[in-house]
Amino acid sequence: MTSPTQSPVWHPFTQHALYDDFPTIVRAEGAFLYTDDGRRILDAIASWWVVTHGHCHPNIVRAIQDEAARLSQIIFAGQTHPAAEEVAERLIGLSPKGLSHVFFSDSGSTCVEVAIKMALGYWRHTGAPRERIVVMEHSYHGDTIGTMSVGARGVFNAAYEPLLFSVDCIPFPAAGKEQDTLDALERACRNRPAALIVEPLVLGAGGMLMYSPQTLKEMRRICTEADVLFIADEVMTGWGRTGTLFACEQAGITPDIVCYSKGITGGALPLAVTLCTRSIFDAHYSTDRTKTFYHSSSYTANPVACAAALANLKMWDDSAVRTRIDALCTMQERALETFRDDPRFTNVRRCGTITALDLKVEDAGYLADITPRLWAYFNEHDLLIRPLGNTIYVMPPYCVTQGDIDRIYAAIGEAANLRA
Ligand SMILES: *Cc1c(COP(=O)(O)O)cnc(C)c1O
Repeated sequence: MTSPTQSPVWHPFTQHALYDDFPTIVRAEGAFLYTDDGRRILDAIASWWVVTHGHCHPNIVRAIQDEAARLSQIIFAGQTHPAAEEVAERLIGLSPKGLSHVFFSDSGSTCVEVAIKMALGYWRHTGAPRERIVVMEHSYHGDTIGTMSVGARGVFNAAYEPLLFSVDCIPFPAAGKEQDTLDALERACRNRPAALIVEPLVLGAGGMLMYSPQTLKEMRRICTEADVLFIADEVMTGWGRTGTLFACEQAGITPDIVCYSKGITGGALPLAVTLCTRSIFDAHYSTDRTKTFYHSSSYTANPVACAAALANLKMWDDSAVRTRIDALCTMQERALETFRDDPRFTNVRRCGTITALDLKVEDAGYLADITPRLWAYFNEHDLLIRPLGNTIYVMPPYCVTQGDIDRIYAAIGEAANLRA
């Protein structure tokens, strides 16, 4: 255990005033984290949605070790390396048809920033500049100034509001209200925005809100007809979470630009990519150097991170991964059954391997009074479960067993009694 009051470390999304101690994780394997004082914690949220096949998967660990000893870092401007080339080839092969180029970066936020820059660059370099972005209510796309701008405004970013650029917002397509969303999108498209950005099928940090593939497909259709670029942020939904490799598959759509990160390395190292269509690449392709895509970070396409991604991509060739995901979807659905008519919960829902349920409380929302008590309860029971406000969700690595799932939902049922 580590006392945060004595450590110089400042943690993300953590109110230090609420903690006397933190678990110190010294090792992880499969679905479990091990602490310095001998605890074994079940990771029910895939360590913030990044771990797919399990912690320290041997294929990924080996690939990292080998690449680190061979080529640990190069400049990616004007040079390339084999791991990046193979990752890009495979990504194009696995993604919806029609995407042709891959731009590397190193986090979910940066690959969304890249997507926005690609969209603005496309319109400017084709001689018809546009600047507005259409977003969906309750969205989350990252914590940089640009990604906060396209995300929901609220407690996460109130202090930085003066720096955020303005966007057009369409309502979340709640069940039965989908047409309102589509109508709002049609209206927004009349102002010739540069792009729409959405999280396909599941809005993650906004509270694990789910909508149908049909609505996603309709949004894509409206953008195509209005000549507005469609950006899919699959940072959370990618890599099997929604039951298919990518959420867009379920709607049978190809975005103009798509963002992947989190599970791209199986959750082992930071890496992200932004894929786009040929016309977006071509808009920047010119002997006129002012049309260069001016974006880079020091570690763009880091070889070790690419090697981890390649090991992950190879695992997707093996049908065992998809079989395991199908089994997890079934386990998750069954586990939810007893909660569907539990009066303590509402909005009991599932999309693929992700489940979520809202605890009925007076002060529903991210700052719900009960939230820190829920975090503490799960921690005391050796479970990594971190509700978003009064929304409890389960998004485990794909290696969890039926026994693990049983333990998770038994604890959720118990924790709900903290409401009193
Ligand atoms: C997590 C997340 C991001 C940001 O990714 P980081 O790697 O944390 O910067 C962006 N979009 C979505 C949908 C996410 O869930």
